[in-house]
Amino acid sequence: SSIFADIQIAKPIEVFALIADYNKDEFKEKVNLSVGAYRDTDGKPWVLPIVRRVEAQMASDPTLNHEYLPVAGLVDFRKAAIKLLLGEEDSRYGGVQAPGGTGTLRLAAAFTKKFFGCDTVFVSKPTWGNHKGIFSDAGFSNIVEYRYWNAEEKGLDYDGMLEDLRNAPPKSVVILHAVAHNPTGVDPTQDQWEGIAKVCREQDIFVVMDCAYQGFASGNLDTDAWSCRYFKDQGFEFFICQSFSKNFGLYNERVGNLCVVAKDCDAKMKTLSQLELIVRTAWSNPPNHGARIVATVLNSPQAYEQWKNDIHTMSQRILLMRQQLLSKLKAIGCPGTWDHITKQKGMFSYTGLNAQQSDMLLKKYHIYIMKSGRINMCGLTPANIDYVAEAINAVVT
Ligand code: PLP
Repeated sequence: SSIFADIQIAKPIEVFALIADYNKDEFKEKVNLSVGAYRDTDGKPWVLPIVRRVEAQMASDPTLNHEYLPVAGLVDFRKAAIKLLLGEEDSRYGGVQAPGGTGTLRLAAAFTKKFFGCDTVFVSKPTWGNHKGIFSDAGFSNIVEYRYWNAEEKGLDYDGMLEDLRNAPPKSVVILHAVAHNPTGVDPTQDQWEGIAKVCREQDIFVVMDCAYQGFASGNLDTDAWSCRYFKDQGFEFFICQSFSKNFGLYNERVGNLCVVAKDCDAKMKTLSQLELIVRTAWSNPPNHGARIVATVLNSPQAYEQWKNDIHTMSQRILLMRQQLLSKLKAIGCPGTWDHITKQKGMFSYTGLNAQQSDMLLKKYHIYIMKSGRINMCGLTPANIDYVAEAINAVVT
């Protein structure tokens, strides 16, 4: 018999299983609200116009080749990514390019385990499905959820969050969503961020900011970087896991940057050198194509303006869908309060629908939605929003 015979089949990854089922479904009015990617008004994937333009230039550039990149990635990319995030350059900031936000989180987990001896990581309850797995694969034996979503108020459980973080044992890591929290769409206010930073400082918690949606919450890149810049201004030494999957629509190109904020240039240099060794044994060096697109755009004032327009297009469409879904639910008299839909930020809305209601949307109405009730706002289009609102009304009534 096979050497693999005793291997158990792994549990399906919910979001990818839903997408596969959706693709097979022949129902004409099916709607996919599960995927974590932007969709245009026709429900189609969208290549940003600025990305198309840069790719066309790259295709005919004879100076480009397929040589390996340096272990830490493209220098132009890393520098520009940090400036975009922190608003300035400084010799105490450094970056390591990695395959997507996921790659940067892997680096953060491996580094904190190896050099700080961390065992405990705090993640929000709920959080992006991959956080726990990444840190447990890196050897973290204690994955603790801090309170975050207040189901009754459909907002942030700020007091619960602080209370849980105050109980952090020494050498803890905390993952904080810098902006546009996935899956709830609920972000702390600036005052609340100040309180969170205070507890992290008191408890000496190592902060890993996960910044996967810069530009998606407010439409403004600087506004969305506020929390990261605040921690930097407060003198924290910390990591920021930066992803360009969403704000450049470069999902399958795997573009991420682990931004290191250290006390001084010497501490940064030492940290980067060790991160490079982790990269060397993990994937040796990162992919080029997407990072080169991002570097080209961020380093050209004209292309940068065009990119900002593209971000504006995406964020405005999401805001419009939030407003329309809310007003449709109100207009048909859907029971319950739905104002959280327009208060939440970013790509997702945590609707408050329970697992049973979400399952009914799926089975009866062919609306593909995560069991948690999370919906991707850009899965909604002018053509399907009435259908979705009616179906939500039907399952909650
Ligand atoms: N962090 C959060 C909160 C996310 O939602 C995602 C993607 O959905 C990521 C990180 C990772 O993104 P990437 O596709 O760049 O690996």
